[in-house]
Amino acid sequence: MNKHRYADRVKGVEMSGIRKLFEAGGPDAINLGIGQPDFDTPDHIKMAAIAAIREGRTGYTPNTGIVELREAICDKLARENSLTCRPDQILVTAGGSEALHLVMEALVDPGDRVLFTDPGFVSYAALATIAGGKPEGVGLDASLHIDVERAKEQVDGARLFVLNSPANPTGAVESEESIRALVEYANDRNVTVVSDEVYEHFIYEKEHVSAARFGDDVITVNAASKTYAMTGWRVGYLAAPGDYIPEFLKVHQYAQACATSISQYAALAAYTGDQDPVVRMRNEYRARRDLLYDGLTGLGFDFPRPEGAFYMFVPMGRNLIEKAIDAGVIIVPGLAFGTRAPEYARFSYATSRENLSRAVGRLGELMG
Ligand code: PLP
Repeated sequence: MNKHRYADRVKGVEMSGIRKLFEAGGPDAINLGIGQPDFDTPDHIKMAAIAAIREGRTGYTPNTGIVELREAICDKLARENSLTCRPDQILVTAGGSEALHLVMEALVDPGDRVLFTDPGFVSYAALATIAGGKPEGVGLDASLHIDVERAKEQVDGARLFVLNSPANPTGAVESEESIRALVEYANDRNVTVVSDEVYEHFIYEKEHVSAARFGDDVITVNAASKTYAMTGWRVGYLAAPGDYIPEFLKVHQYAQACATSISQYAALAAYTGDQDPVVRMRNEYRARRDLLYDGLTGLGFDFPRPEGAFYMFVPMGRNLIEKAIDAGVIIVPGLAFGTRAPEYARFSYATSRENLSRAVGRLGELMG
């Protein structure tokens, strides 16, 4: 018998369905389950980290992050996102994950409703629950985009609305019109919008639109993780209007102190340095998306071509999902991302073209 006791808030949270899958499949498995770039961190970023180590920049940094990095993030937000902010409106975090955690801890009171799409990124519901809030899914339309009019019906009285475009797990990119409408509607009703933009650079047709352009109560969450193939470095940030940062800082300084100093210098090189590696990664993801999409639609699957991130959310039925995983095509069942898409599975194309072709071939064999 287990003699240890746990807080109800945490007991109610399930382990991520994705992590469990990492152990699935034999040596011959083709892993399309992983949500991280398969590229290496660009060299100039690694060199900046090595220089920081050599030069002894290895102590605590200011809790909010080194000022050079916060300035560089403000420049980036102005250049790429048409957002104006000051360095004191930026908090550097241990990845986008910590930024999301801080927002929930600082803003959500017991019982507060936290909205996000279902299917959606696994952390939103878990972090809302850990903060004592009530996670609440917002459904998608048949094209896997937010149905703005239906979403509005849930907004009144909620504490937070988490937007994620480009989206995990669907790869959907929301239009400027939808983002503007949702932000204006939510902010008018005192609902804070959290805009998770970690996949902003991986969009293949449309343009990325930052939600903070459309309201004065929008917190932008982002990270170096996906953009610069830096998931293990654990560095991200949030940008927040007005007086949010000191409250977030209360949680951050006691729980984390600061993001890793070495990673902060690496991120500084990432945001200020050569952006060509990002363009190359985007081009490669686009080619892989087309390869996988053509392969899967060629097998008869019918779904819209995803516009961003490095995921494809495919309607294929639970039986086939199970058979595919048993046959070593590791994909993530839709139920890992909420309750509303049990017939779908997420394919990540952050893997080689060869693996994608083999996976399509193996699925074809299974389908006879
Ligand atoms: N937001 C979304 C939508 C993600 O998919 C992920 C990672 O998979 C994160 C945030 C967290 O990113 P990080 O590694 O920066 O914590």
